[in-house]
Amino acid sequence: MANTRFGAITESGKRSHSKIEETGRRSQLFGQQVFNEEKMLQFLTKEALEKVKSAIFQGSKIDRKIADQVAEGMKAWALSMGATHYTHWFQPLTGSTAEKHDAFFDILPDGRAMEKFGGAQLVQQEPDASSFPSGGIRNTFEARGYTAWDPTSPAFIYKTTLCIPTIFVAYTGEALDNKAPLLRALHAIDEAATGVAQYFDKNVRKVYATLGWEQEYFLIDKALAKSRLDLVLTGRTMVGNAAAKGQQLDDHYFGVIPARALSFMSDLEKQCTKLGIPVKTRHNEVAPNQFELAPVFEEANLSVDHNLLLMDVMEEIADRHNFTVLFHEKPFAGVNGSGKHNNWSLATDTGVNLLSPGSTPMKNLQFLTFFVNTIKAVDTYEELLRSSIASASNDHRLGANEAPPAILSIFIGKQLSDVLDELEGVSQGKLSPQEKTELKLNVVGKIPEILLDNTDRNRTSPFAFTGNKFEMRGVGSKTNCAKPMTILNTIVAKQLSDFKKEVDALIGKKNLKKDEAVFNVLREYIKTSKRIRFDGDGYGDEWQDEARKRKLSNNKNTPEALQVLTSKDSIALFKEMGVLSEVELKAHQEVELDAYVLHMQIEGRVLSEMVYNHIIPAAIGYQNALLENVRGLKEVYGAVYNKVAESQLNILEQIGEHLGEIKKQTDEMNAARRRANALSTVNKKAQAYCDNVKPFFESIREQSDKLEKLISDELWPFTKYRELLFAK
Ligand code: ADP
Ligand code: MG
Repeated sequence: MANTRFGAITESGKRSHSKIEETGRRSQLFGQQVFNEEKMLQFLTKEALEKVKSAIFQGSKIDRKIADQVAEGMKAWALSMGATHYTHWFQPLTGSTAEKHDAFFDILPDGRAMEKFGGAQLVQQEPDASSFPSGGIRNTFEARGYTAWDPTSPAFIYKTTLCIPTIFVAYTGEALDNKAPLLRALHAIDEAATGVAQYFDKNVRKVYATLGWEQEYFLIDKALAKSRLDLVLTGRTMVGNAAAKGQQLDDHYFGVIPARALSFMSDLEKQCTKLGIPVKTRHNEVAPNQFELAPVFEEANLSVDHNLLLMDVMEEIADRHNFTVLFHEKPFAGVNGSGKHNNWSLATDTGVNLLSPGSTPMKNLQFLTFFVNTIKAVDTYEELLRSSIASASNDHRLGANEAPPAILSIFIGKQLSDVLDELEGVSQGKLSPQEKTELKLNVVGKIPEILLDNTDRNRTSPFAFTGNKFEMRGVGSKTNCAKPMTILNTIVAKQLSDFKKEVDALIGKKNLKKDEAVFNVLREYIKTSKRIRFDGDGYGDEWQDEARKRKLSNNKNTPEALQVLTSKDSIALFKEMGVLSEVELKAHQEVELDAYVLHMQIEGRVLSEMVYNHIIPAAIGYQNALLENVRGLKEVYGAVYNKVAESQLNILEQIGEHLGEIKKQTDEMNAARRRANALSTVNKKAQAYCDNVKPFFESIREQSDKLEKLISDELWPFTKYRELLFAK
């Protein structure tokens, strides 16, 4: 794990012999703009530094006096770096980040100017951000929203502003953001996992969830992208005939990065490095003009913040390079969309990855414990985990034969399946000494060797074990990772705490040894969670049938997928784990549904405008040109004109047909939209948009794409796929 909170990068990376700045000493730039330990040592008193550290590691409170000292130090550092403003940086439920800048500068009553920033300004702010979605929380309670400092994610300077990561909550304490629930889930997993990890090592005091995301995106020439209203307003192309060449040659994937994109990436990476985002990998992705960037993994809260910050920085730097960066999950039909794999594991404060097999049988029993408990958690709460990646834009991608299906399943590979099968055969209760030896040597003992050459990967699996971590592959490229991370850590926390209760009961009541008790419980879990394990082709139709037989959920669209959030079981789970109250769950669900409706509404309007104001006029324009031509031919050829003008007449007929059809479909789509808008609840609206409006998007597009093929290139009103995807 990159210890990015405290500055020094753990590995300095390969040193380049060339003087090229881009590959030069990245480690010297690392964290330059972050208020990390190095800066704290310089700008804080010893006491304040200790208190901040203990807030980070023990979750202790920072009192007002210390907050004043920290603010003083932060301000001094920020001013020395040339910052002029500060902001509480937060994650409202819109999915992105928000900030409201205040100048450090203030005027004293006597008219003198001074730089003002104290503990009060650091710890809490009331941004009056009343327009952010709150799912009714703020109306119901007439509660004001305020932001509160999250000392576990270090402050940083972006441009000339000191950014202080914060949570955003109502005055009554309800979370109005994605960070507060994540922090609660991380606390829950810490407690539950520490309890279990202590079976194997008494010295463990804390367990961190770790996250390493892989961000996919498209880079499109800015002028070309801006010329299309659908890209500007919805982030995706709503019409567009596929270019003659797509991704079929696989010549973009892992190919030489185009010079202009590389120059963007170099600037981006430099900026990220200064901001403490440990970016590491970059490459071309499958689709033309599609790329991926991945960092070294970090503690989950920090990693989530870094992903959000990265997306902001990317937009800014892309703009400077005359690119538009697209984070939408499906910007172009016919070529791959973008995702954001979430690699996840658990790490102890003693430096152990709990999902990594070790060198001794005991270490491997620890690995198996966390491995099997994760499988069990995903099995029990598969539908909830699916809900965490639901969004209007990700609906285009999940199950579209380029990303995992909407069905959650786990891939662990043949060798580990064999290990679990063997464990399942172990007898119940006390184990004979012989059985124990056999188990330790031949089953548990073999795991490291197994994993060393266990390189088979299944790219179609939504939740795959990849040697020392699980990889969640259905996450959308636009999604705030806080959402899947909150749910994943909550369900694993719940599972681990149940596991501990069961093991303790067996030790207490049945007088089993600890490892015997652990084996006993794991064996049961292996048996009861089999349906979630699937090593086959997740894209195949057979899997859809098989999954139905296994009673796995298959919620293909967002409105359906979100329902489970407020089921009785979910409400009980989130309450027990202290992550979300019933009020919060309902509010968060409402916000998600509302976001779905709003996105659909915007797409419907955009498409409507494209059809009525661009496509139909263009088609009529070409019709007129053809008619003019036919009239001319008639003049010249007289009665036999229709022979000479056969092709023109044929094209005219086809255009007429598609024009009629596209107009009719668009009228109907708008009528369906009006009906959906008039429904009384957001749930009904979302469902109606999904069932009655969205199908028109496809059929309208079909007509438009046919017209695009017929109409003169000169007259077509939109920049084409060929230009968007192949301009480098
Ligand atoms: P790919 O999945 O593309 O083959 P890798 O297997 O190299 O790529 O890993 C991808 C990501 O996994 C990286 O972003 C890395 O930071 C992350 N990762 C590696 N180990 C862990 C871990 N223990 N916890 C969380 N993320 C991890
Ligand atoms: Mg990956």
